[in-house]
Amino acid sequence: ARRYASAFQSSTVTSTFNGKKGADGNYMVTLIPGDGIGEEIAESVKQIFKAAKAPISWEEVDVTPILKNGRTVIPDKAIASVKKNTVALKGPLATPIGKGHVSLNLTLRRTFNLFANVRPCVSIPGYKTAYDNVNTVLIRENTEGEYSGIEHEIVDGVVQSIKLITYEASERVARYAFHYASENGRDKVTAVHKAPIMRMSDGMFLTACRAVAKDYPKIAYDEDLLDRVCLRIATDPTPFADTVMVMPNLYGDILSDLSAGLIGGLGLTPSGNIGRDASIFEAVHGSAPDIAGKGLANPTALLLSSLMMLRHMNLYEIADRIEKATLGTIAEGKAITGDLGGKASTKQYTQAILDKL
Ligand code: NAD
Repeated sequence: ARRYASAFQSSTVTSTFNGKKGADGNYMVTLIPGDGIGEEIAESVKQIFKAAKAPISWEEVDVTPILKNGRTVIPDKAIASVKKNTVALKGPLATPIGKGHVSLNLTLRRTFNLFANVRPCVSIPGYKTAYDNVNTVLIRENTEGEYSGIEHEIVDGVVQSIKLITYEASERVARYAFHYASENGRDKVTAVHKAPIMRMSDGMFLTACRAVAKDYPKIAYDEDLLDRVCLRIATDPTPFADTVMVMPNLYGDILSDLSAGLIGGLGLTPSGNIGRDASIFEAVHGSAPDIAGKGLANPTALLLSSLMMLRHMNLYEIADRIEKATLGTIAEGKAITGDLGGKASTKQYTQAILDKL
């Protein structure tokens, strides 16, 4: 397989995009701006899409949780919008720690069975960090594992949290990883695990990966321990450029932030949550309450997520054009945001991209 020039994409094999255009000739996409810096970075994406003449009409929805039969849930209207449009772009949603409603991010993932979370992490040419050749793709199981939300206080002072692993979800995400590898010219899938400790749960995850590997004789398969992979990536990310890593939920959460640290931080890392009936694209980062409302946020991670979305919708040419303008702006270094060591506001950075389109 030939490698497509950009790693910022998903694999569409197992997910559906309905491909329907609205009356205005555009594809309708659900937009969830989100909390904190969400509005500011979503505004930047909207402006860039408009200038690039992307054939997208946004259906903006509010996901502020409401109380229904004693449970906090996402408003029906938001759910219906994602169901109808089958693709959504989402800003960060804040989750209260230890109290209040359960994570809306988790609720969305469960509601739409977004089983694979694709997280590419690529060095931006011209933007200097410790390495200039990071090109990792990490696929995180997105529906269960350590995020099952099943916790009990057994007796006072003793809490049990359940890590739930099913063969079905493991097999599904492994298959997605192999699809991604074969579509995108990566010759290996590496399952990342802690099976020596989590013998049964990670053991089953590996059994599923090994079974799927047999269906892809042209793709090499190997396994590595999470801690070893952390050390290896931080020491030399080169060997990971040919690999797709696949792993249980929590490991993917942590390893992707480690990878982000190698290329310049969370302002640069996008993701796609892929499901069979819908897919939701979002930045890896959260709502950044420390800089919210100040006009300082870096919109790149959400923008690159939106490019993954465009490619998911087969809109490659527009995605390529926006990507070139974005990466060119960062390489030039004249109008980059504070997290990247620059002085530009979100608006100035956005304008610099618009000028290059
Ligand atoms: P965070 O990612 O919001 O912020 C971590 C640090 O990175 C902060 O210093 C922040 O200023 C910086 N940062 C993040 N994104 C940036 C950007 N685009 N531009 C410039 N700087 C950026 O993580 P946190 O502070 O741990 O979490 C804040 C909230 O976000 C929490 O409620 C958390 O639950 C939520 N969260 C949501 C998601 C999601 O919606 N998928 C993901 C992670 C965290």
